[in-house]
Amino acid sequence: MTLECNDPRLKSWLPVAKDSDFPIQNLPFGVFRTATSSPRPGVAIGEHVLDLRAVAGLGLFRDVDARLDDAFSAPNLNAFLALGRPVWRAARARISELLREGNTTLREQKVAIETLLPRMAEVTSCLPIAVKSYVDFYSSEEHATNVGKMVRDPNNPLLPNWKHIPIGYNGRASSVVVSGVDFHRPMGQIKLPNEEAPLFAPSKSLDFEVEVGSIVGKETRLGEWVSPEQAEEHIFGLVLLNDWSARDIQTWEYVPLGPFNAKSFCTSISPWVVTLDALAPLRTQGPAQNPPVLPYLRFEGLKSFDLNLEAWLKGRGSADEIRICATNFKHMYFNMHQQLAHMTSNGAPLEIGDLYGSGTVSGKTPDSFGSMLEITWRGTQPVSLPDGTQRGFLGDGDTLTLRGYGVHDGVRIGFGEVKATVLPALQRS
Ligand code: MN
Repeated sequence: MTLECNDPRLKSWLPVAKDSDFPIQNLPFGVFRTATSSPRPGVAIGEHVLDLRAVAGLGLFRDVDARLDDAFSAPNLNAFLALGRPVWRAARARISELLREGNTTLREQKVAIETLLPRMAEVTSCLPIAVKSYVDFYSSEEHATNVGKMVRDPNNPLLPNWKHIPIGYNGRASSVVVSGVDFHRPMGQIKLPNEEAPLFAPSKSLDFEVEVGSIVGKETRLGEWVSPEQAEEHIFGLVLLNDWSARDIQTWEYVPLGPFNAKSFCTSISPWVVTLDALAPLRTQGPAQNPPVLPYLRFEGLKSFDLNLEAWLKGRGSADEIRICATNFKHMYFNMHQQLAHMTSNGAPLEIGDLYGSGTVSGKTPDSFGSMLEITWRGTQPVSLPDGTQRGFLGDGDTLTLRGYGVHDGVRIGFGEVKATVLPALQRS
């Protein structure tokens, strides 16, 4: 059933451009609203969005699972996720069938086709899930090495624990936003190198981080823990994630307990959750892990994904964006299965709607570094923009966009984009 939905020969009766992120083999789930409607679940197809609440209203999911009518009436995907993978798969199969070339079911309904399938350009994306907990990992060896070289010891950049533990910290779920939501540059404590005391001021080294977020669709009980193999059952799908970071605030606060305000002010995710089923053809081998990890982190099979990830920067007032990073998710040292196995290894439960950030995805070469910190080497090698201005870190009015996709058998499975503009700090008088 799943394989059938991924068949490269499938075509939709809707026009889908060759380079679209959302062919019929993808069918990512999200939440959207129109000018006149409330937030509702949808599926992206080409330049359109299938309104799942409206389709459920026509009774077209009733024979798949009667609970889908309620799930698709909700303002987020959590109730759908709670139904479990067999229902996720069955719903995706029905959607694939309805959109497949030759199927006239949707066009034969009394409801106008424009209502069932509004144009993506005319809808507003909403946060796809009610985020329960947000954890961010630090699992790219290249990223951890670059940061270690800059802030610790160039000759010994990785801490002794790094190749044994998928390092992470608990982030803040309340500030996770969807693409298109702009945010204010954070205020915070900053200690300048030549001053003895810190000051409270807008961050001067605002950064982005190219990441992939995994969304949990099945909970565990307190005390229960999952193996990397079992973790698979708990992951619904993936989004692009930008872990906005204030490097000056981070430098002053992170010892001894790790990042706090430097990271918690905003985290942006892309609107469309690409299911693990749709990503199946993009599975690949990750890097060899040496020294071997402890038994609770061992895994077999393909647990990494061949996904091209890009960051694009548009300077304030500029019409053009430039690509400042092109990397690949397959470089990550620890995979998300190991991350979830580690996180639950002490008995901490997973909840439906949890979001797990992969950690900054950096490659080996400077054009594949996943943050400004690395690209400009802490601001010492600024990026030149088309208008002649330079950036060591992000300026007010700058827009940063992440894009991601993989291609297999000529089929492109994409994420769309996650984009936001930096607004000036809100200063108290
Ligand atoms: Mn991060």
